[in-house]
Amino acid sequence: MLTILDNFPEKLITTSAAQLHEVLNGPTLIHLQGKRNPPLFVSVLQHGNEDTGLLAIQALLRGYAERELPRSLSIFIGNVSAARYRKRHLDGQPDYNRIWSGEGTPEHAMMREIVDIMRQRGVFASVDIHNNTGTNPQYACVNRMDDRFLQLAILFGRTVVYFVRPENVQSMAFADLCPAVILECGQPGVERGIIHAHEFLEACLHLAEIPDRPVAAKDIDLYHTTAIVKIPEHVSYTFGTAHDDVDIRFLENIDRLNFSELPSNSSLGRLRQDSKARLDVRNELGEDSGDRYFSYQGNELRTLRPVTPSMLTLDKEVIRQDCLCYLMERLTPAAMLPHEQESGKT
Ligand SMILES: [Zn+2]
Repeated sequence: MLTILDNFPEKLITTSAAQLHEVLNGPTLIHLQGKRNPPLFVSVLQHGNEDTGLLAIQALLRGYAERELPRSLSIFIGNVSAARYRKRHLDGQPDYNRIWSGEGTPEHAMMREIVDIMRQRGVFASVDIHNNTGTNPQYACVNRMDDRFLQLAILFGRTVVYFVRPENVQSMAFADLCPAVILECGQPGVERGIIHAHEFLEACLHLAEIPDRPVAAKDIDLYHTTAIVKIPEHVSYTFGTAHDDVDIRFLENIDRLNFSELPSNSSLGRLRQDSKARLDVRNELGEDSGDRYFSYQGNELRTLRPVTPSMLTLDKEVIRQDCLCYLMERLTPAAMLPHEQESGKT
């Protein structure tokens, strides 16, 4: 199911995500030769409704139409058929960014093939580009508390999220091969996100190596994703004050709370008088941890401890296909402290 090319088709430089299916047969891996090896790996459109990565790659390659790339580049263009319909994935398809370990579908086998190919090429670093549907800042994610991963992440910005679940994402598979980051570029179609991702890729292509010195605590706002929050399918809900008869009425514009440090006892919404609805909250081990985070006393949905939500969205399809949000806690990068003490910086 994977097409492999060794050039960037001319048409592709101007094709929109929704029209990619006219130029590509489906998921495509493109290897481009540059001055230095090994290649930088970049994946875009793993989610068909998130086109910032494609637009950033197109902007980058326009700049190199007449010049050699400073480093070789391997580009994976993911869910072309979902992009046609501006969907995260089509019904009947797996979520492309949840199949980089395990097996069971042709898509699983394709991801394994990509990892094998890039392992053979000795991949330099991996960048997976996404958008989110709610209001979020732009930030990078890592799956390892490793100096090189964090150095790569802060090239994008000082806000960095460390997570280990879901464990079947692209960045996790590549973390065994090279420093790997995810870029969350805000909502699709926002110019600022495209420029930011483009500049980041440009910087990566010019790196001779990725520094392995520790990131200073003053240069990073590091969060740790500790739980994922889903809404069980039988629970009805809405946002704001509409008079629907639903189990949970969340705050209007709740996505504005993304990356806000909420104190304990913050209200996130109200339950209907007779409703016994509960959110499905799972910690990093997949264990039910609803009691740790939320209380429902007096039919008010409140936080039980200080948390910082991310990826809160009002998009019901994304909520169904992925989740309502993640919960994060501030991380004092313990991994950095010994280094800092050694060098006398504390
Ligand atoms: Zn995504």
